Amino acid sequence: MVRMQASRYPMVSVESAIEAILSRTPVLATEEVTLEEAIGRILAETVKAGDDMPPFAASAVDGYALRVSDGLMPRQVLAEIIAGATDQIEIRPGTASRIMTGAPIPPGADAVIMVEQTSEQNGILQIDQVPREGDNIYPRGLDVSRGQIVLEAGTEIGAAEVGLLATVGLVRVTVYRRPTVAVLSTGDELIEPDQPLHPGAIRDSNRYALLAVIREAGGIPLSLGKVRDDEAAQEALIREGLERADVVLTSGGVSVGSRDLIKPILARLGTIHFGRIAFKPGKPTTFATVGEKLVFGLPGFPVSSLVSFEVFVRPALQKMQGHQRIHRPVVQAIVEHALTPSPDRTEFQRAAVRWSRGRLVAESTGSQRSSRLLSLVGANALLRIEPGTEPIPAGSLVEAHLVGDILSDK
Ligand code: AMP
Ligand code: MG
Repeated sequence: MVRMQASRYPMVSVESAIEAILSRTPVLATEEVTLEEAIGRILAETVKAGDDMPPFAASAVDGYALRVSDGLMPRQVLAEIIAGATDQIEIRPGTASRIMTGAPIPPGADAVIMVEQTSEQNGILQIDQVPREGDNIYPRGLDVSRGQIVLEAGTEIGAAEVGLLATVGLVRVTVYRRPTVAVLSTGDELIEPDQPLHPGAIRDSNRYALLAVIREAGGIPLSLGKVRDDEAAQEALIREGLERADVVLTSGGVSVGSRDLIKPILARLGTIHFGRIAFKPGKPTTFATVGEKLVFGLPGFPVSSLVSFEVFVRPALQKMQGHQRIHRPVVQAIVEHALTPSPDRTEFQRAAVRWSRGRLVAESTGSQRSSRLLSLVGANALLRIEPGTEPIPAGSLVEAHLVGDILSDK
């Protein structure tokens, strides 16, 4: 059967497409992970300190614990207190004790003087200047007090958070589950990347690029391989993906060509929420749900599939993992070259954004053809260009969605 006709799916805006996706995207259940596994995950619990930190008054320097009221008089050195010490030495008038950084302040002492400001001979300490009370002492609970909230639920766990969790004695934490995301490449023309090209053949790059970007987005990638443009074979693999994953991505087969079979399959398996977006590159991007599972039919052109992933799939994966910030940071940047908008679609053009004399400047990464993956290499931003008929002159301010680090001055 030949099926080739204009799409019957209404064209939706980028905003309503994102809204249609996020309103159907669940936040996944939680699981417990060890501290070693916690990096990059989102906390699903509020963490309070069970103890004061530091748990005892401690010396901030290597020096001598002493009594300020003894003034400049020479003091008898009683002992040496090292970090971790538990013995109880009392500093009585006229005495002092050597003390190391992090060691507990002995009873009776009310200041620590740095070793550099002292001299000690035959067990007698001389000082030139009288410290003030509390000098070089970290009081108990200075950093964190018992019962204090140190991390709110929804926090992304980075290195500092891992350190804080260890500080408060937590070695297992509750975080949101990461989504398993299955990827299926479709197309009779596809061959494995390690195969030599033959007439009509194209190497399947999308599957590998999508598996990589899923991992970058915190998901667990699952390859369903590649499949020919055969409806039954495609449906069987999509069903397998739905069983094994939270999200299924297909590549190719969503246009209006006679071998574009994904939309009818998804319409049969579940509900299609949109099948066409006023979006460039990636107009035929399709979104369906099957129960709680999400299915994205991404276009076959390599740039379209990755940019569609960035704009439509990544926010959903962020939400599933419990992220509070679902979207990329948006900045205003000055375009270096004139840009030609699409007459009828919101375009996300690839660019490199850098600081230049105190301003953010965007430079296009070259031809924006959907087949040209090189336009994504070196891109750290997508410039959002609304449809229009007039070119946007060089020097205009445009909205840049940052997908990587801003570059420093050239
Ligand atoms: P389609 O959306 O299936 O019509 O594919 C559009 C274009 O993208 C065609 O030129 C395909 O050869 C190309 N294409 C489709 N799938 C892939 C893939 N997995 N890797 C690289 N190129 C692809
Ligand atoms: Mg195809």
